[in-house]
Amino acid sequence: MGYVPYGRQRIDSDDIKEVVKVLKSDWLTQGPKIKEFEAALCKYAGAKYAVVVSSGTAALHIACLAAGIQLRDEAITSPITFIASANCILYCGGKPIFADIEEETANIDPEEIEKKINRRTKAIIPVHFAGHPADLEEIYKMAKKNGLLIIEDAAHALGAEYKGSKIGSCEYSDMAIFSFHPVKSITMGEGGAVLTNNKDLYGKLLMFRNHGIMKSHSKLRVKNQKLIGDWYYEMQELGFNYRITDFQCALGISQLKKLDKFIQRRREIASIYERGLKNNDYFNLPQEKNYAKSSWHLYPIRIKDKYKAKKREIFCKLREKGLGVQVHYIPVYRHPYYQNLGYGKNSCFNAENFYQREISIPIYPSMRDKDIKYVSDAIINVFKRIT
Ligand SMILES: *Cc1c(COP(=O)(O)O)cnc(C)c1O
Repeated sequence: MGYVPYGRQRIDSDDIKEVVKVLKSDWLTQGPKIKEFEAALCKYAGAKYAVVVSSGTAALHIACLAAGIQLRDEAITSPITFIASANCILYCGGKPIFADIEEETANIDPEEIEKKINRRTKAIIPVHFAGHPADLEEIYKMAKKNGLLIIEDAAHALGAEYKGSKIGSCEYSDMAIFSFHPVKSITMGEGGAVLTNNKDLYGKLLMFRNHGIMKSHSKLRVKNQKLIGDWYYEMQELGFNYRITDFQCALGISQLKKLDKFIQRRREIASIYERGLKNNDYFNLPQEKNYAKSSWHLYPIRIKDKYKAKKREIFCKLREKGLGVQVHYIPVYRHPYYQNLGYGKNSCFNAENFYQREISIPIYPSMRDKDIKYVSDAIINVFKRIT
């Protein structure tokens, strides 16, 4: 069967054609494809504004900057996430605070967030783990009561829905970020975006993407630009070069057209796993809450209590069988960098418990039915032999 990874991109000849067109055009970067992709993202997700950048991490960074996170501010996020969800707070001089997860979805628990809010708290960064939306309405109510901003880390969740609206619509948040890394819902190689309905935040995001430069006349600090000259612009903030190229945006536009098909296939695979693997003695399957439609970025199984001590061995055997299983995630505060900052090793009970059990098994749109069967059989066989 060869190697079945946990996730991978799906690129076809249309995608390649679109990229080549841009490579032959006048604009490699800063051209028309960027705005076109931003408009397409807005239309898909139902948000007013989008700012496309060079990675999901860059998107998180400028979102935190636009939110005004500064030295000694706190922002609350999930420990079960890719490190970037917390690092973006550190980039701004802020302090990441980890709120424990709910057992069922492995998403940040609104009640745990509430316990962590204090005078220094500025923002909440919920992560839609595995593509299953966090309970945004609950988080939103709490955030607004306390004057906090919400930045959704929706890196897993392009194409997912919460209570009937698309993730990225920012119906229950101030900003949402996406990643277009090859394992995510759609890809541009590297790439990311911030979506928002707030014009003021939008203006800041644009500036932080491009060195903090302001060019629009009405927003210059100097009052009459005409007296100086037409070359005049201002750097008003310390921004970055987080721009993306036009040929990557051409890929993004082409990929976005296929997103619904990709998600449909991911959902099909999840239901085939569900049918084939439910009621097994060894592990529990991920479930969808009734308020959620998951984009199934990952398929995270949880080893049952009596076998969890064997996780290392099970993981090894699955890899030997050619399954590109992975663990999502090592709780962020466990990394040496965070330990050196003084974070406790067992800060979050549910996150620790989840980490002891979780294994992500392959799920991606180009998986064939026989791959799904191979994976399902291989997993059951490995557990049978080891337990
Ligand atoms: C992938 C990912 C990111 C970072 O995106 P990049 O495009 O790789 O920088 C951030 N948060 C989560 C949860 C991710 O999975």
